[in-house]
Amino acid sequence: MSAADTIYGTPVVNGLAYGQVAWVSHFEIPNLPASKIPLAQRKAEVDRYLKAANTVSERLLTRAKSTVGTASDILAAQAELSRDPGFKKMVVQSINKGTPAPSAVITTTDMFCAMFEKAGRLMAERTTDLNDLCMRVVAELLGEPEPGIPHLGEPSVLFADDLAPADTAGLNPEKILALVTEQGGPTSHTSIIARQLGIPCIVAVRRLHQIPQGEQVFVDASLGSITTGANPEEARQKVAANLRSRAEIRHWQGPARLASGEEVELLANVQDGPGAQKAAEAYAQGVGLFRTELCFLDSTKEPTCAEQAEKYSRVFAAFPDQKVVTRTLDAGSDKPISWATLEEEANPALGVRGLRTTGIDEDLFTRQLDAIAQASRGHQGKNWVMVPMVSTLSEAKWVAKLIRERGLTAGIMVEVPAAAIMIDQFLAEVDFVSIGTNDLSQYVMAADRMNANLATYTDPWQPAVLTLISRVAATGVRLQKPVGVCGEAAADPILACVLIGMGVTSLSMATSAIPSVGSQLGQVTKEQCERAAQDILTAQDSGDARNIARRALGIN
Ligand code: PEP
Ligand code: MG
Repeated sequence: MSAADTIYGTPVVNGLAYGQVAWVSHFEIPNLPASKIPLAQRKAEVDRYLKAANTVSERLLTRAKSTVGTASDILAAQAELSRDPGFKKMVVQSINKGTPAPSAVITTTDMFCAMFEKAGRLMAERTTDLNDLCMRVVAELLGEPEPGIPHLGEPSVLFADDLAPADTAGLNPEKILALVTEQGGPTSHTSIIARQLGIPCIVAVRRLHQIPQGEQVFVDASLGSITTGANPEEARQKVAANLRSRAEIRHWQGPARLASGEEVELLANVQDGPGAQKAAEAYAQGVGLFRTELCFLDSTKEPTCAEQAEKYSRVFAAFPDQKVVTRTLDAGSDKPISWATLEEEANPALGVRGLRTTGIDEDLFTRQLDAIAQASRGHQGKNWVMVPMVSTLSEAKWVAKLIRERGLTAGIMVEVPAAAIMIDQFLAEVDFVSIGTNDLSQYVMAADRMNANLATYTDPWQPAVLTLISRVAATGVRLQKPVGVCGEAAADPILACVLIGMGVTSLSMATSAIPSVGSQLGQVTKEQCERAAQDILTAQDSGDARNIARRALGIN
């Protein structure tokens, strides 16, 4: 790569960094020669395998104990997987038939991965963990050093193909200036951990391997750019200014207010009572998206009305006199729930999910509305209910009637392009809408949101997506009805300013994103937001849109 070159990826956690590149060492499993262990040596080979598996699992557990939160949970889960008796038994059986231990581990991993993939999406995601474990055990058996994060003498910018869960969990934020991966997507382990640790992060960077170990790079994670050959003095100044603003974020306290004085309603996306409690402590002004389906991922049958109401009331209790927007079950696709969704679908994201599950059991929906109404009875705040995946006007009319009959305020999510295109008519039927930018991007760009290879398409900064959001927001202003945003777009501080400029009336996001969005909103005026919202409608692509917005907002 020549001097002053820039490559781009998908931004995940904002922030700037300047430093040298450290590549995560990757252990490639070599081609192992076919051989057979003589009968007399098989017991020793089994012992050798068990010792290696134990060493790997002990290392994972030790690291789990020295970390906290999600990182620790991920490591502990991986250590647990490494102790799986079914897996071990199969490896031992294979060695007892004469297969050398490394080959036995590899073939057993392949069999388990095939089984996991067959079992469906959530299980299939565990194949990354299994392959990572396989690599660790084989490296141990071959006497190779543990693959993963290199020892960092000085704070560095960490580059990787993609980080394995065990790597992400061992990250020391004090030694890592930024995290950049060639693969992965905004919902991968890498992204989740980077968000938790607050490390600037970019994923899905094509051609990242062109930048070698030790090269100095300037990373702008809000733009998703990595630049080699940057002027060191300028880069360091920008990073210092950015560190000051990150310190401001850490000290931010609500409510959110633009620099020109207007208050902005910042709400939280939650899935249970404890999460809602945390959001209340983090200055959320209410709940903008209560994902009720996530309360019941583990249950094997439909919870009774009383059981549902009990779960819901815990979220209401965290915000006793504030707004809570409860979303009815969004079962199906990436959130399969055995008692609410069909078993097999060729194309689940375009299948029976969200409101469409009423086609299987209409009463499931009304029973849930009854439970929400029951839970909301003692709640003094606003009781808003919205329905996911509404695609036709008759659906909107029908759900609004059922919600209002129970004394609740009726809304729909705008996720299906049909609702955004005909927003005038849809908004006329309901009291409010909330734009689900994760699904709206997926459907507008015809790109699976779970597919890391398509992360550049499912970016909410795509001009086609922005154009639709702008149209929905403008209609809300004209009809004087609330239009919220509750997809990941609301958690992007710069995009949040643009959304407010478009006329969006509330932003709902993961609790961890509230301070950075609140702090950024405090640095721009209403007029700047409106200009940014106007100007980005001329953008050619997502990178262009980001640059235009920053210029209009006066952000370097
Ligand atoms: C969305 O689609 O943007 C959304 C908020 O819903 P979910 O991510 O739960 O599908
Ligand atoms: Mg959605």
